[in-house]
Amino acid sequence: IPVDPFDLVIFGGTGDLARRKILPGLYRRYQAGQMPEEARIIAAARSDHDDAEFRDIARAAIEEFIPEGKRDAASLDEFIERLSYVAIDATGDDGWAPLSEKMREGMIRAFYFSVAPSLFGPIAERLHQHGIAGPDSRIVVEKPFGRDLASARKLNQTLAQHFDETQIYRIDHYLGKETVQNLMAVRFGNVLFEPLWNAQYVDHIQITVAETVGVDGRGAYYDKSGAMRDMVQNHLMQLLCLIAMEPPSRFDPDAVRDEKLKVIRALEPVEPYQIVRGQYEAGGGQPSYRDHAENPRSLTESFVAMKINVSNWRWAGTPFYLRTGKRLKARTSEIAVVFKDAPHSIFGAEAGRHRNILTIRLQPNEGMMLGVTIKEPGPGGMRLVDVPLDMTFADALGPEAEDVPDAYERLIMDVIRGNQTLFMRGDEVEAAWAWTDPIIQAWEERDDAPKPYDPGTSGPEDAQMLMHREGRRWREIR
Ligand code: NAD
Repeated sequence: IPVDPFDLVIFGGTGDLARRKILPGLYRRYQAGQMPEEARIIAAARSDHDDAEFRDIARAAIEEFIPEGKRDAASLDEFIERLSYVAIDATGDDGWAPLSEKMREGMIRAFYFSVAPSLFGPIAERLHQHGIAGPDSRIVVEKPFGRDLASARKLNQTLAQHFDETQIYRIDHYLGKETVQNLMAVRFGNVLFEPLWNAQYVDHIQITVAETVGVDGRGAYYDKSGAMRDMVQNHLMQLLCLIAMEPPSRFDPDAVRDEKLKVIRALEPVEPYQIVRGQYEAGGGQPSYRDHAENPRSLTESFVAMKINVSNWRWAGTPFYLRTGKRLKARTSEIAVVFKDAPHSIFGAEAGRHRNILTIRLQPNEGMMLGVTIKEPGPGGMRLVDVPLDMTFADALGPEAEDVPDAYERLIMDVIRGNQTLFMRGDEVEAAWAWTDPIIQAWEERDDAPKPYDPGTSGPEDAQMLMHREGRRWREIR
């Protein structure tokens, strides 16, 4: 179903994010027939280009980031015609009048701030000064949304001077992933899971986001942030919220976000012994983290694993274990809900220990898998094996599932539709920082040194111990 006609202005329209994600995503939606003929996309950035030059940039980006078999010349030409360019320095006065002239009446107006957060204020202010943004306009802002509670608050206040909360779309692309939304469908659309979704039946939950890449190329930026700020405060926290939250009364933006906020507020402070930080060493022909960061004394973590307790009736006593890191064994994002043992085994000790585990895979191969225990086939008596009930979407739903929109595509269309459900609300972001800040401050105060780990592993040995000492273990990263 096509969305309503819109004018979308991308500040930073020539940048890396615009070229890799936003423009290819918009093209894919055009190709899918979701973008109306009247839609226009205006890139605004500092460099001097005319429309033709920008269209070449956009075409090259789409050709680079969308495989040949997934695009076609005719639709690409049509899409490119919808693009134009205005040179604007966000901190200056030029370019705003031409931008204003390009905006059409009666269209949805959306402004994508794909620029450094320091420019959010200047852009917001000028959009109003020049009468370009109004009460129905929407703005999209990227991560990082602050680097601590104070800076996030300040950003929220800056945006609030010019826009109402209902106009602000804070992107966390993890929320745009198909499986993440499916998580809500599975939890709240079936009777099967919800009765078991609590401390009585769930032993613990694991959330893993593992990358094989290092910080090469963005080492200087990353070194000021680290895994806690770059991944945990936003992406992993959002996943935790969706697993832990109470059923909202309806699938509506504020109902969902209210429930997520309650989860964040129920997180217990994390004690130092419940966290392991790591930093990758050189290996496999690749430099170490410190070399990548060009900071021989860096104390920034490229890996973090932790145990989190959610203090509420549903989860008391059922810990959430989170880990994320770079240069690990495999690229994978996975949530595992590990259920408790059956209360009594009628098959005796030799049948071994078997547990149901629901795994939700975000990448690769988005899907879900439920491990169930069955009898091993054959005449050997009552031997038990665990087999997967596999719900890989590509298998279950056919080829259509392979063509699910990328997170960015979906989220941008949600902006045009005016649906904020999958975007973070200001108070959510602040609550997440309020929980994260003391952890980072404690590290900084005692110059905490991350544990070194070899590339291609599952992170520092201590991260394994975090689970082992409680009789649990991490799922293998693969
Ligand atoms: P980039 O440096 O590649 O591009 C920045 C863009 O902003 C360019 O188009 C540049 O012309 C424009 N710009 C810079 N200063 C300007 C000014 N004064 N006035 C007008 N335009 C100006 O950056 P990027 O990687 O595309 O990132 C953009 C934003 O998105 C950042 O906030 C970044 O943190 C965030 N982000 C990027 C990625 C990514 O994968 N690249 C991922 C998540 C979030």
